Amino acid sequence: MNGNIITSYRSYIRTAHSKLESNEAMNDFILFAKKTKRYLLIILIVLLCFTLVSCGNTDSRFDEAKIPLGLHVQDNRNHPSTSIQEDGEGRTVAIGTDNPSETTTATTPTFSTSASTDTETTTETTQDQIVIPPANSTFSVKFIDVGQADAALIECDGHYMLIDGGGKSDSSRMYSILKKEDVKNLDIVVGSHAHEDHIGGLPGALNYATADLILCPVTSYDTKAFRDFVKYANLKGNGIVVPRVGAKYPLGSATVTILGLNATSDTNNTSIVLKVQYGATSFLFTGDAEREAEQALLNSGVDLSATVLKVGHHGSDTSTTYPFLREIMPKYAVISVGKGNSYGHPEDNPLSRLRDADVTVYRTDLNGDIVFTSDGRSVSVSVAKQASYESIMTPGGAVVVVTTVTTPAKTTKSTSTTTKSEPSSTTTTTEPSSATTTTTGAAKYIANKNTKKFHYPDCYSVTRMKESNKWYFNGSRDELIALGYSPCGNCKP
Ligand SMILES: [Zn+2]
Ligand SMILES: [Zn+2]
Repeated sequence: MNGNIITSYRSYIRTAHSKLESNEAMNDFILFAKKTKRYLLIILIVLLCFTLVSCGNTDSRFDEAKIPLGLHVQDNRNHPSTSIQEDGEGRTVAIGTDNPSETTTATTPTFSTSASTDTETTTETTQDQIVIPPANSTFSVKFIDVGQADAALIECDGHYMLIDGGGKSDSSRMYSILKKEDVKNLDIVVGSHAHEDHIGGLPGALNYATADLILCPVTSYDTKAFRDFVKYANLKGNGIVVPRVGAKYPLGSATVTILGLNATSDTNNTSIVLKVQYGATSFLFTGDAEREAEQALLNSGVDLSATVLKVGHHGSDTSTTYPFLREIMPKYAVISVGKGNSYGHPEDNPLSRLRDADVTVYRTDLNGDIVFTSDGRSVSVSVAKQASYESIMTPGGAVVVVTTVTTPAKTTKSTSTTTKSEPSSTTTTTEPSSATTTTTGAAKYIANKNTKKFHYPDCYSVTRMKESNKWYFNGSRDELIALGYSPCGNCKP
């Protein structure tokens, strides 16, 4: 019987071969199957097993061919937090090389790979944040040079957001900036906190443009500047809204997230801290938040990582603490600060901390307007004025050693300071050491911090001036005027 079956099977194979591709072969097979039902069943089972085993082999060979992908997935599983930071927050953007083009090429594959691997370890938030904006999308952040104050205008796909508007004296400037840029409506206006150097210029902005949403940590504050802000917020918008932590607002393809506010009752620490996310790039705005607010943010566990940090409180040592900076890990930082300000901003310590964290720093007092653009993968920056690394890292209000002593004369051009960017930084009141390096004779002008008049050192008025009001100034006449000082009518400097 056995022999018979095998023989008939062999003869079937032979016949089938000879009748290949003809219907006869199929008919023969059906006939053969009918004859040898049981044995065929066994053969089929054996064949099935073989197929299953070989399928498994094929699979593993397939995996081998995709080693990079496999490894990436593995890596995601082993280090989920690292991978989320890389994928979601453009961590590679934030700590990448200084060369923007290298950054772009380095980050792009990361995104496409993780988007395509799409493993179960990838969180929903990550999925949200790695959406790269469409090719026709636009995004820019302009840090406006408003002296010792803050103002940033953000544009995304034709939508606008204004974060702070400088001081009262910047009001007309804010009006003309919006007019020039043809911004008739602001989607979002943020008064980071109630201080005049942040909300003072917002009435000017709201005098030109309407606003959909106006955010501030408080709705009332007992100053004329704030009352004006409230007036315009009601007139050109829907009044002031206190946002809740975690609130998200769209701005074109970008998303604004409120990370914290009202950390303490101290006005600076009420500052709204928010992040603007555009694709894989992000901007963190901290207002004048100081270490208490920074600590509160750290405690809350929010994701602080950002490509660009607007340094808190004009570079004051009260802000930009190490732990806070470590969480943000920015690639760039912007300090909004006034030339020759009497606070000595930015201070040495926060500058050192930024240097240690390998952050590229820009300053409005040295760089003028600072504009960041983003394609969703990496940012690029352009400044109105270039400044040397050395001058950027020199604290504001620092003592500048006078190298040539000049007798005051109207024709003398100021070239006598060691850093051209910090000509105005000698103050006797805040920097005790400056009193020893600068004498009345050495200073070019003496300005009265109280009356905002400036004089030649030999002017009679100087002898009647209180020492604490004197500001020994070695910069140019124009700089003093730009700082809001006017020349004395007697000595006519
Ligand atoms: Zn401020
Ligand atoms: Zn403040």
